[in-house]
Amino acid sequence: MGRRLCLAGFLVRVRTTRYEKKKGEWIYRCRCFQTMYTCIYLELHAHLNGCISSATMKKLMAQKPYLQIQNGMTVIDKGKKRTLDDITFMMFHVLFLNQITKDIIKEFAADGVKYLELRSTPREEKSTGMTKRMYVETVLEGIKQCKEEGLDIDVRLLIAINRRSGPVVAKQTVKLAEEFLLSTDGVVVGLDLSGDPTAGHGQDFLEPLSEAKKAGLKLALHLSEIPNQEEETKILLGLPPDRIGHGTFLNSATAGSEELVPLVRQNHIPIELCMTSNIKTQTVPSCDKHHFGYWYNMGHPAVLCVSFLILTMYLGKEPN
Ligand SMILES: [Zn+2]
Repeated sequence: MGRRLCLAGFLVRVRTTRYEKKKGEWIYRCRCFQTMYTCIYLELHAHLNGCISSATMKKLMAQKPYLQIQNGMTVIDKGKKRTLDDITFMMFHVLFLNQITKDIIKEFAADGVKYLELRSTPREEKSTGMTKRMYVETVLEGIKQCKEEGLDIDVRLLIAINRRSGPVVAKQTVKLAEEFLLSTDGVVVGLDLSGDPTAGHGQDFLEPLSEAKKAGLKLALHLSEIPNQEEETKILLGLPPDRIGHGTFLNSATAGSEELVPLVRQNHIPIELCMTSNIKTQTVPSCDKHHFGYWYNMGHPAVLCVSFLILTMYLGKEPN
């Protein structure tokens, strides 16, 4: 299903009126420009390893039947579990990673998405010879090949810093991202900060993220995904980031949170909201309790995103 959103993230689903040609049909009207014609499809929060479809997994497994898949989980259909090991294993192989990237782009394109930002943490694996640089190059090659095939979709890449890897690795990731920012003619647009929100402290990543910002990399940071992170969120909002991922507890009633909302609003920082992901991972109990309404009602830029497509069939913890 396509997500109809405008660039500023304001969207209203309304019925057409008698003043419009398609009377009575559902259309998507862009609040920021007060016209439906500026709406386009875009996906801004898509983790590469979280968007591998069942069809792709089956295809890749069929190509390598001798692979040992842990827990014997070889069926990846909807409603049946896939393991994170399955996915991680696939992503350590250049051929597989290239295929995964292309398949994801083609599936988003088939879904009507016109602008797609993928995000992924560079991985290295000695057993397959994969280095972090090769990892990024392989994803970029997949993006390039899709472009050469003439797919009607503009794809960019955010290189992700995994919180669990700590600040030293974060600095290395920033250096890598800076190089690709300069060499990819705008395909690498910035950095993502993600991973286990309980790992490390936001302060640990302030220096590398500041460096990245100075170098011209855009920052899309997962912030306040879990409660009681006001202190680190406030520190990272000081950068300020260019977009916020989730921000589930930015507007919570806990002590310290009252300072966060004004900071976000003053800097007009758009928030990437991933309803299905939040509900599946149980950080939000239901759609009607989701913070989309809070931000939308105050007219703050908020963009509906997918995050992890596989969460529609996998109910465990999010991969990093
Ligand atoms: Zn995310």
